[in-house]
Amino acid sequence: SLRPSLSLPPIDQPLSTAEFALSLLRKSSPPATSGKDIDSLIYLVYASSGDNLTYGELRRGVRSLAVSLRERFPSLSSGNVAFILSPPSLHVPVLYLALMSIGVVVSPANPIGSESEVSHQVEVSKPVIAFATSQTVQKFRSSSLPLGVVLMDSPEFLSWLTRSDSSLVNPVQVRVNQSDPAAILFSSGTTGRVKGVLLTHRNLIASTAVSHKRSLDNPVDYERVGLFPLPLFHVFGFMMMIRAISLGETLVLLGRFELEAMLKAVEKYKVTGMPVSPPLIVALYKSELTKKYDLRSLRSLGCGGAPLGKDIAERFKQKFPDVEIVQGYGLTESSGPASATFGPEETVRYGSVGRISESLEAKIVDPSTGEALPPGKTGELWLRGPIIMKGYVGNEKATAETVDQEGWLKTGDLCYIDSEGFLYIVDRLKELIKYKAYQVPPVELEQILQSHPDVVDAAVVPFPDEDAGEIPMAFIVRKPGSNLNEAQIIDFVAKQVAPYKKVRRVAFIKAIPKNPAGKILRRELTKIAVGGNASK
Ligand code: AMP
Repeated sequence: SLRPSLSLPPIDQPLSTAEFALSLLRKSSPPATSGKDIDSLIYLVYASSGDNLTYGELRRGVRSLAVSLRERFPSLSSGNVAFILSPPSLHVPVLYLALMSIGVVVSPANPIGSESEVSHQVEVSKPVIAFATSQTVQKFRSSSLPLGVVLMDSPEFLSWLTRSDSSLVNPVQVRVNQSDPAAILFSSGTTGRVKGVLLTHRNLIASTAVSHKRSLDNPVDYERVGLFPLPLFHVFGFMMMIRAISLGETLVLLGRFELEAMLKAVEKYKVTGMPVSPPLIVALYKSELTKKYDLRSLRSLGCGGAPLGKDIAERFKQKFPDVEIVQGYGLTESSGPASATFGPEETVRYGSVGRISESLEAKIVDPSTGEALPPGKTGELWLRGPIIMKGYVGNEKATAETVDQEGWLKTGDLCYIDSEGFLYIVDRLKELIKYKAYQVPPVELEQILQSHPDVVDAAVVPFPDEDAGEIPMAFIVRKPGSNLNEAQIIDFVAKQVAPYKKVRRVAFIKAIPKNPAGKILRRELTKIAVGGNASK
């Protein structure tokens, strides 16, 4: 790493992520607080209703909820997992922090996931309890949860958040070690179905420490009022929510993403910064709606999660010359950002995702020999350091394939690092498709397609798309005589998956190209797809 090393709390000091973020806020009194009482600052605003939560309410809410959960569920203990299926709301961050503060591992998932997707995630993370809303609760019908499902929009849950009795003064202390598990987030990794990425408090603390330091060192990047179009269950949103606490920032939450609602909120709350994924940058430079709103408060966008084309960044800058795009790259497996551009000179290097984070060592490795390559050469990026996940929960095989014995995470991304230390992502070695930066594991769709009575074989690959980045494209081998068509296939999959995972393009082929071991040759299919040599 070319960056100065990072100072972290001693590893043996008991410390939860929540305590750490709040202690940074108190200690460093960042610019946003400028002498004001921290408790009176606003942490979250819910854009559509204008409801808000101050830092004081956050602290009291976390404590009140932690005490209430321990009383109501005496058997809920350290190391247990809680599954969370909720759209963004003021309660979600309070719940995450309350659970983590009593040593319970939080496992949040996409609230628009289908019942079978949720039940697979529940099998993976093995929660004892789930937190849902009246809209998402029915997705647990086929899951077994020893302590049941708590409704986050019930009067009982709301009363747990705002207690003021004496039990809160000296709440039962739970010792949380930094090496304890804190969260299980979902990712398909380099291959196969969705897995549970186990992140420890140490992982989250190190990740928070990096982004906190960067923001203090770089005032442009510093978001006094951030708008949050990201989901809170994905690592990007999850970490931004914790980072905001360490800086005393205000975050404006959108219930459901909608471009005009977002623009309206930027104007109304004078938003200065937003974490975004590339499709939103595309939407912003293409949309005429931007002219209807006063967006002059916007100073920087933090973009990550999927590749941002140089031409897209440049077109955006033509329309919004005063808005800086800070580019970052990261994975769920690296607790979020692994690299980012920093400061005005770096952010204009479009195409690069910046230099490797101070919490990591990096090397570029020849994927066939495992040999480290010199600057400028393209190979697989390997990362090591305190933000690298503990492993995939309950899946030793996948963990061993992804993190080697020396602690190097194999990212599955084909990259090079130039002589100045700037990282460039060239391609993806792993199977993953990123639709609007959301993960779509091809294997999941292939299994569904193969279950269709008229399908002999199927494979799914990414197909480039300007608005979404990539869309899932299916190659289908039909049964002889079958006249199954594209629309029927798209519909068959759509009924079984969350909307962002839908197959959006289909081609028919005589046989799926495979290697002698039976592994799908995805690159060949991608070439056929882009070259247009398949029949539609
Ligand atoms: P996730 O775990 O959902 O964050 O997905 C991580 C993967 O997204 C990485 O391994 C990359 O393939 C891709 N990715 C994330 N950020 C970027 C970026 N800035 N540029 C290109 N690919 C990215």
